[in-house]
Amino acid sequence: RLEADGLVRAFDGRRVVDDVSLSVGAGQILCLLGPSGCGKSTTLRMIAGVEHPDAGAIRVDGRTVCNGIDWVPPEARSVGLMFQDFALFPHLDVAGNVAFGLSGTKADKRARVEELLERVEMSDHIASWPHELSGGEQQRVALARALAPRPHVMLMDEPFSGLDNRLRDEIRDHTLDLLKEEGTAVVLVTHEPDEAMRMADEIALMREGRIVQRGAPYNIYNAPMDRAAAAFFSDIN
Ligand code: ATP
Ligand code: MG
Repeated sequence: RLEADGLVRAFDGRRVVDDVSLSVGAGQILCLLGPSGCGKSTTLRMIAGVEHPDAGAIRVDGRTVCNGIDWVPPEARSVGLMFQDFALFPHLDVAGNVAFGLSGTKADKRARVEELLERVEMSDHIASWPHELSGGEQQRVALARALAPRPHVMLMDEPFSGLDNRLRDEIRDHTLDLLKEEGTAVVLVTHEPDEAMRMADEIALMREGRIVQRGAPYNIYNAPMDRAAAAFFSDIN
């Protein structure tokens, strides 16, 4: 479970994240939607611990990881990241990439790597090198790597962009299944309205650093709070 209260982050005196609070239960997906520059990525970076908030608190499964006094570093937060500009480690093969964040015996790690590669349909490539893979294949390996340590929270910033439609649907479905099975709390940033409708348990609309509307996907779809939100959903088929 992820809880954030009153997150604030200013750059040059401008609050790009301005009192954002959110909570996501285990196995739930919260979609963060909003125009470019409204503060989505900055919010995720604070939750991940790679950006310091000016104010606010973050808890993962009830444990405070940041509140202005306590500070848990990113690698100890049980928070996984899947960003658009993900990169595999070029000096490690596929198995090495997926095993990277794992601890335990060699056999345990191998079993987890095989299980995940099977789920993303990349078993045949277990000994391949990143440069031998297509973009979509690399993305699937990155997904397996992000999920391998069983993070309690997963932050995804447009993780499926840059894929063709067929591959995007496929990887999206694999991802959804895996996250639900593992009971991960997910915050997903997307610019795709149908992706939000398909994946979200809850949608939060952001404008200029603030969450201005939140609710179940169909409630937001049926009663968007402004023209911009209505326009966003209008091209859903
Ligand atoms: P997009 O949809 O384009 O990815 P976003 O909602 O993710 O947009 P952010 O990346 O969170 O937007 O940025 C919010 C605002 O904060 C932008 O105006 C951006 O220029 C500014 N910003 C982000 N990081 C910094 C920084 N390190 N220094 C100065 N300004 C920053
Ligand atoms: Mg962004």
